[in-house]
Amino acid sequence: MFSRRETDGIAAHRTVHPMARRRRSGRLIPLGGVGEIGKNSLLLEYAGRRLLIDAGVMFPEEELHGVDLVIPDFTHLYQHPERLDAILLTHAHEDHVGALPYLLKGLGRRVRIYGLRLTIGLIEPKLREHGVLRFAELISVSGSDRLNLGPFHVSFVPVSHSVPDSAAIVVGTPVGTLFFTGDFKFDQTAPDQTRTDLNRLRAIGDEGILLLLSDCVRVERPGITPPERVVAEALDGIVRQASGRVIMTTFASNVIRLQQAIEIACRYGRKVAVVGRSMEENLRVAADLHYLHLPPGTLATIEELKRLPPKEVMILTTGSQGEPTSVLSRIAMGDHPMLRVIPGDTVVISATPIPGNEETVTRTIDNLMRRGANVLYPPIVPDIHVSGHASRDELAALLRLLRPRYAMPVHGEFRMMVHYRNLAGESGVPAERIVFADVGDVIDFGDERVVRNGRVAAGSVLVDGLTVGGVNQIVLRDRRHLAADGVVICAVAVDRETGRLVSGPETTARGFIAPSASSVLEESAARVRRALERRPEGEVEIGYLKGKIKDVLAHAIYTRTRLRPMILPVVTEI
Ligand SMILES: [Zn+2]
Ligand SMILES: [Zn+2]
Repeated sequence: MFSRRETDGIAAHRTVHPMARRRRSGRLIPLGGVGEIGKNSLLLEYAGRRLLIDAGVMFPEEELHGVDLVIPDFTHLYQHPERLDAILLTHAHEDHVGALPYLLKGLGRRVRIYGLRLTIGLIEPKLREHGVLRFAELISVSGSDRLNLGPFHVSFVPVSHSVPDSAAIVVGTPVGTLFFTGDFKFDQTAPDQTRTDLNRLRAIGDEGILLLLSDCVRVERPGITPPERVVAEALDGIVRQASGRVIMTTFASNVIRLQQAIEIACRYGRKVAVVGRSMEENLRVAADLHYLHLPPGTLATIEELKRLPPKEVMILTTGSQGEPTSVLSRIAMGDHPMLRVIPGDTVVISATPIPGNEETVTRTIDNLMRRGANVLYPPIVPDIHVSGHASRDELAALLRLLRPRYAMPVHGEFRMMVHYRNLAGESGVPAERIVFADVGDVIDFGDERVVRNGRVAAGSVLVDGLTVGGVNQIVLRDRRHLAADGVVICAVAVDRETGRLVSGPETTARGFIAPSASSVLEESAARVRRALERRPEGEVEIGYLKGKIKDVLAHAIYTRTRLRPMILPVVTEI
């Protein structure tokens, strides 16, 4: 499947970047994921050829009202779509693959996409759903394959993480080897195929690594991250003692944990229903590819479960982040068509909120408790969730196994990168050989050196519903005003000929809450009337009138209330 040498030979006389030939160095450009959490994407260039590692999304912060997703700005790639040889995926989490559909649409050409088997299996339905499958040549690889992609020699190294088939990626180039950890932890008690192989890492280190790019998101945590096994033990205890139904939520991609939950249900004579689109789909893919083993007769529909006593029921659902449309949120709101909380229910939230989701998660917990559920979540039951990322001691151990000449912290915010630099200093890589990069920075590597050298176009693109990059600052500002200060509508009627005010202004407000709001509005309307009456008679220019009304009203409201509601002037000509 991977005899690509021939085709690569033919492609070798493709345009070679003259600078690259002269310098004999490669370039590494983070398009996202450094100094921030999310939208992980790293571009590798050598002799005018390119490889992209991951293309992830970031979930928008509160300030970006109504924006669905934030993706990397791929302008630099779009300028020469033909140079991109392949996309390599470390694993199927959204912060690593979520931007793929948008990237493929933007490239407008077919690209080879490599990943371990389940990674490819999980992204395929997503690409199909976005209608971009025709742009993707999906290629499943195993941990023992070696790929020759132009000047790059690539291998995938399976690592432990919270979705099976996560990988680190080793890329050999003519000027040095780079090691990308992806998201990982060591978890030496994990089953074979999901366990980080420390001996293999040491062997890779023996061959010499120029630059290690390391996940650093948990560098603030001392010690090592607990293994996934502790979750199974905690869950076993909960299910054993629960006298009613058990409703559990976790990340829909955490197939390992879902497998454990199903086994535990089976152990205590419970049948399991899976509710929630993403979870159902992931489990279907995982079962098809034999990553999930369902004891016969364990799965059932909600309807079938209704006929069983509560003690024989487990329900697995989406909603671990309190997403408003998820099954768990709807159960919490009493708004799900098939599921309601019944007394004696135990709800297990096997996740911690991703930063930014704390409020929606705690609201969901409150609402579930209001309806009488016993809700268990971390830290109330600390072991009911463990992270998929390496803590401090594991990060240090990785540095000692690989012994890279240079190291670059990725997948973390600035303070984490600083902590990583300190840690690396204690683990054999001195501070001057730790590379700090911003999104869009160009990092030159080669000749035993790694240096920052210039920048390319990069940053964030906001995805709003079906449009990409269509949300500009004005829309965001409007949404901010609407959310914070509400809206004031001001209607006037003017004479078509003279422009004289015939009726109004009439003001209506929504979401505008201020002490004595109605008197503020009345007084502001009076000001608008005076301003319009002062206006000399003449032809009506609607745009001008609207602008005038907006200015006067905004000023009047702001001076009294310090609020800036959105103002919608409505001018009717009579
Ligand atoms: Zn991940
Ligand atoms: Zn990640």
